[in-house]
Amino acid sequence: MARVALLLGGNEGDMKRTLQTAQRLINERVGAVMRCSHRYQSEAWGFNATLPFTNQALEISTDLRPLEVLDAIQQIENELGRNRAAEQIEKAATGARYASRPIDIDIIFYGSEIIDEERLRIPHPLLAERQFALQPLAEIMRSFPHPVTGKSVGEMLDALRTEEVTTEP
Ligand code: AMP
Repeated sequence: MARVALLLGGNEGDMKRTLQTAQRLINERVGAVMRCSHRYQSEAWGFNATLPFTNQALEISTDLRPLEVLDAIQQIENELGRNRAAEQIEKAATGARYASRPIDIDIIFYGSEIIDEERLRIPHPLLAERQFALQPLAEIMRSFPHPVTGKSVGEMLDALRTEEVTTEP
């Protein structure tokens, strides 16, 4: 059994409903949901989007291997209306790296495993830069240490907050 942290998010459609359905499907197909954070809203990160993002972190317990978890969450994203082709068109039009989407599910931690493959990087490489990920995660696993840096989720979040304050004009 592995303890896995997932980050769910999106900025299109009825996010409360989508996140509830995603959680149910994850619980049925990927692993038992042990803990779940509140939903947090924030402005889009890395691109201009009119609609804010909603994020939620889940901790699950699973027997699936990391790539099996990835296959299962991508299948759930597709079923919940994620359309990667449409996102590619939006990204080409805006020149941005990101696009609006009804649901995105990322694997943040898979136990303390470190995976650096083409299809899967765990811990998620941009975690320490993303308050929208650290905030919900800190609610459910504040003291969990990042397997590479050793910093806890709470420490990473505090570091970002300090940075924000010090860069304020
Ligand atoms: P996105 O468009 O943000 O959902 O990114 C999806 C792509 O990121 C997929 O092609 C995945 O194979 C890849 N990926 C790499 N690392 C991860 C991760 N930790 N969790 C989810 N997707 C990942």
